[in-house]
Amino acid sequence: MQSELFDKEDMLVVHDSKCPACGADLVFSPADNMLKCEHCGTQKQIQVSMAREKIYDEADFLGVEDWAESKAYKCVNCGAITTLLKGQIATQCPFCGAPRVIEDEGHVGVKPNAVVPFRIDKISAKAHYDKWIKSRLFAPSKLKKNFKVDTMNGVYIPVWTFDANTFSTYYGRLGKRYTTTVGTGKNRRTVTKIRYFSVSGSLSREYDDVTVEAGDRINQKIYDKIAPYDTNNSVEYDGKYMLGFMAEKYTLDLNEGYHIAQEIMSDDIRSAIISQYDADVVDYIDVNTEYSAVTYKYVLLPMWICTYKYGKKVYTFYTNGESGKSYGKTPLSPWRVGLAILLGLAALVGIGYLVYNNYMLDESAVGLLNDMKNMLI
Ligand SMILES: [Zn+2]
Ligand SMILES: [Zn+2]
Repeated sequence: MQSELFDKEDMLVVHDSKCPACGADLVFSPADNMLKCEHCGTQKQIQVSMAREKIYDEADFLGVEDWAESKAYKCVNCGAITTLLKGQIATQCPFCGAPRVIEDEGHVGVKPNAVVPFRIDKISAKAHYDKWIKSRLFAPSKLKKNFKVDTMNGVYIPVWTFDANTFSTYYGRLGKRYTTTVGTGKNRRTVTKIRYFSVSGSLSREYDDVTVEAGDRINQKIYDKIAPYDTNNSVEYDGKYMLGFMAEKYTLDLNEGYHIAQEIMSDDIRSAIISQYDADVVDYIDVNTEYSAVTYKYVLLPMWICTYKYGKKVYTFYTNGESGKSYGKTPLSPWRVGLAILLGLAALVGIGYLVYNNYMLDESAVGLLNDMKNMLI
């Protein structure tokens, strides 16, 4: 029966996402920054406005609305929950590539108010991957020559960003090391002592877009490797950016996100206070901070996730959908690893020194050094 296929809301969304010329599905096209019909090529502009900050109030969620135009799906294999616009079809889990996703009955979550749209399309994301894998000196040649992607999905990763003005008062005791000579005759020697001094004062700071990852599928290491994203230039959320893409559902809510942002700010304030003084040692420092004019955005960040098989193992790759920055683990070639060991301990020590001091090296050298570093740690 027709009425069972779509409810009224579905019909609305579906109508909006169809090509005005031929009726086929429209998708968001990163390369053109508009909607495009994959069937006849018709393009449709998206009205763009900059994202606005929302006022944060821990107790009162004014202006927070449910993401009613979307539906949540759960992956049978890995448990990831993703959201999709109603009327779009979930075919596979973007995180593990499994083809089995089922509708999730749980609360669909809060509607995003900002989005960093995809700028890198599928084809150029694949080119970024190819380039990246060729720079991995320890990856097997067979893989480099014949790199075939099994699944590739564009998914939006959820983050909370916070702005705040802070005013802190502090007092504490810091110390500075100095050397002095003690004893006489045979016992005369140099010792290091600490001279302590008291500090107190106040400090004001302004924070802009302190970012807290709201999902649990992309760990901090992966996020850091493909960051940054230009959240300051994010645009107001519009469902049209979702056409052809999925979004990860957040697991950290707004208040939990704010508490993590506060920890980030308070660590930063503490370091800023200490760095004003010429000190080597912190005996103690008490900081009392007031946060005001706190605003937030719930932003979706674009990411390409791709899986491929090598031998019997599945490997995953990640690409920043805004900048193209890529990261992933690759299989290791035993021949290449063996050769590297022959380079000898002396070389490794020298290389370790360069890696830890972030010397400028060309891309393939950096890949090699990082692989070595990962093997050593
Ligand atoms: Zn069309
Ligand atoms: Zn999955």
